[in-house]
Amino acid sequence: MTAVSPLFRAAGRLVSPGGSKGKLTILTYHRVPADIDPLLSSDQVDAQKFAKHMRAISECFNVLPLPQAIEHLERGTLPARALSITFDDGYQDNYTIALPILQRHGLKATFFVCSGYLNEGLMFNDVIVEALRACPSADLNLSWLGLGQIPVHDLVSKRLASEKILGAVKYLPFSEREEACGRLWQSAVPGKERPRLMMTDEQIRKLASLGMTIGGHTHTHPILNRLDLDSAREDIALNRRMLGALIGQEPVVFAYPNGRPVRDYGHEHVKLLKELGYQSAVSTAWGVATQSCDRYQLPRFSPWDDNPRRLVLRLFKNALLGQRPLTAPDAS
Ligand SMILES: [Zn+2]
Repeated sequence: MTAVSPLFRAAGRLVSPGGSKGKLTILTYHRVPADIDPLLSSDQVDAQKFAKHMRAISECFNVLPLPQAIEHLERGTLPARALSITFDDGYQDNYTIALPILQRHGLKATFFVCSGYLNEGLMFNDVIVEALRACPSADLNLSWLGLGQIPVHDLVSKRLASEKILGAVKYLPFSEREEACGRLWQSAVPGKERPRLMMTDEQIRKLASLGMTIGGHTHTHPILNRLDLDSAREDIALNRRMLGALIGQEPVVFAYPNGRPVRDYGHEHVKLLKELGYQSAVSTAWGVATQSCDRYQLPRFSPWDDNPRRLVLRLFKNALLGQRPLTAPDAS
């Protein structure tokens, strides 16, 4: 990468200029497993790929902490090739695997944390994956989920099964989804303890003390559009209070769970965030943030390339073409 970096940097200044025409690329990561996990999606970023990403990004982009980058974007003082790195949910491997790689390159990142799963918790998607991973049976009777008898005898069938179950429960009302995941766990691995995948309180405090940004991501990761507004307010406010108590300062940036504008959250949630004291928020709509973007619905991008050059070219293409991101319109 190093030999071509000057060329890439020059090209990057054209597609991602600074100043009043500034563009901010915001990357989203989730889990960063030590090795490729056959039960996770094929576009996962493991330790090796993440290290390649960070090396290429530190050579070709100006990486800024997200809150500062947003301030620069608004004031028209962003540097060219501006980029911020974010992680959603609060996975422990963000601390054990990703943090040392970030530190090696002197990079700061933002971690959007669901307070309800810290320490011992497990998010519903992981309950499904981990239940299937540990399931010793050849098949599972999931007719109560409308899925019938499904095979789970090897990694391929477990992966297929987890996608089917995820599709069946993802948009259920929150309590029904929790109940379905609990029932799945009991039928797949009765009595087994759930593995620990999320960060501890102490790890969150350590991240903050190292100059990393901690952002809000709700307490229990509900799809906000599936909740009544009062419950959404309670969940978002509780998350902000709990993170504030942990790190001594309430977070100012927020990421919507699942994050797809219109489908997963609406403009009423944008208003909620303002009411509750948040200063900006990110969605999962793909695009690049410009001065004309709603600072409470900034788009992000999730690169998956293994090849560093292809990664940088993809980020440039996003900076060039991703300027009209999807947002939840203000209907009031
Ligand atoms: Zn999330």
